[in-house]
Amino acid sequence: MTENDKALSAKVPSFLDYAPAPESTSVLHLKKHYGLFIDGEFVDGRGDAFSTISPATEKEIASISNANSADVDVAVAAARKAYDRTWSKLSGADRGKYLFRIARLVQERARELAVAESLDNGKPIKESRDVDVPLVAAWFFYYAGWADKLDYAGLGPNPQSLGVAAQVIPWNFPLLMLAWKIAPALAAGNTVVIKPAETTPLSAMIFAEILQQADLPKGVVNIVTGAGDTGHALVNHPDVNKVAFTGSTGVGRAIAKSVAGTGKKVTLELGGKAANIVFDDAPMDQAIEGIVNGIFFNQGHVCCAGSRLLVQENVHDEVVDRLKARLSTLRMGDPLDKNTDIGAINSKAQLDRIRELSDIGEAEGSERWTADCPIPENGFWFAPTIFTNVSTSSRIAREEVFGPVLSVLTFRTPAEAIAKANNTPYGLSAGIWSEKGSRVLAVADKLRAGVIWANTFNRFDPASPFGGYKESGYGREGGRHGLASYLESAGWAAPAVTKGGKK
Ligand code: NAD
Repeated sequence: MTENDKALSAKVPSFLDYAPAPESTSVLHLKKHYGLFIDGEFVDGRGDAFSTISPATEKEIASISNANSADVDVAVAAARKAYDRTWSKLSGADRGKYLFRIARLVQERARELAVAESLDNGKPIKESRDVDVPLVAAWFFYYAGWADKLDYAGLGPNPQSLGVAAQVIPWNFPLLMLAWKIAPALAAGNTVVIKPAETTPLSAMIFAEILQQADLPKGVVNIVTGAGDTGHALVNHPDVNKVAFTGSTGVGRAIAKSVAGTGKKVTLELGGKAANIVFDDAPMDQAIEGIVNGIFFNQGHVCCAGSRLLVQENVHDEVVDRLKARLSTLRMGDPLDKNTDIGAINSKAQLDRIRELSDIGEAEGSERWTADCPIPENGFWFAPTIFTNVSTSSRIAREEVFGPVLSVLTFRTPAEAIAKANNTPYGLSAGIWSEKGSRVLAVADKLRAGVIWANTFNRFDPASPFGGYKESGYGREGGRHGLASYLESAGWAAPAVTKGGKK
């Protein structure tokens, strides 16, 4: 190399540098303060207002009303009135028209919703723009199509709605979880009071504006913001007929106890600790991308994340080396930058939990590797991390970290892979990577998980039911099965979602 070449190569970066490409926030028209959305209007809550902040900067985005139990009473009364007087009297075709209208408005305001979601939640804009918001629209389109076809849902002729649904959702997919809850409930003829998570209420507030734009009859959807107390008042309200909860197993368990014997229909979508099983004949390039997508998508804040990698022993070193190389190329930082792969952790509390469990993983003897990425000065961040030499009894192999942390375990035979995959109190999802279709089917048949992906991971479709076994909850969302949770099912047996009679 000549002196000139050396000087030149010193100037050229070893691989491409990315210039900042931030999405503009000019599309947002945020208010300083958001009220509760009750009976078609924004009204102030009686509790002390709280701030929603950007987890990437820790700066306040807006002040949010806090609903106390008296506000919840008013919201439930509005939903009841709307159910009795308007929504239950509309034909399915007319309900469908409103849902189609909402779906189209979500598409029209997609950019605004994606920016709001990334700002409030910390997730990369390319995920909110390309995954969350398109799926929100898809969910409303899908259930809009069902509204006038309930007779054909396999629930018997003329299935009846339940009444008022109380819905409580988490912060990891704020708008998508709202869509999973509201779309089937309205299609089936119910009215709704929904509570978003306290750290991510913003997209629900914009959604309330969309409902006004869609001219949805007043009181059909009511949105109460607040924390656990608000959720508690809502699910325990005596005048709700159905409780739909997505969140942690601990809170889900408490809700199951409190509604037991009340006659309320309940669905619980809870935590997970999914096994992502990689056999030695797996298409390795795709498998590496699938493992990364499985656990580092949305910073690992995914109930069905592939947080336990089970890799066949003879390809362990190859897989781990390739994973580390791939993770070293991920860009962590500003969620609104279109190049960002890993955004901010949603809250300080969640960051503390991820740190605590990771420290425990190290103390228990697992080997920790963390991608070397610069950590922004403000905000909540946790770089992609892999633990190897993890034993099945280790807490990071058993507990839901709900962050960008992967535990790697090994197996030798398919039987061992199945035993280890099922060795968890959860049962929400699993992944299998192998070139052999017969092996994929044989293993899938023995896994106790509600959703199993083959040679892919984290794929969602409104027509496909989603839900768990064991401590991951009960009931299904999505597809025809999702309608069953919002309709009377007298004399009807739920479509089979169990395998081998083992549930
Ligand atoms: P969380 O249980 O703490 O909170 C979820 C929601 O419940 C929030 O809106 C919260 O305000 C509310 N809440 C808290 N205490 C309540 C109470 N006593 N009564 C009623 N409502 C109450 O969970 P989180 O930390 O927000 O979310 C993360 C959890 O959600 C993870 O465990 C994750 O696996 C799970 N999750 C599951 C699914 C699924 O479909 N299975 C999807 C997303 C998230």
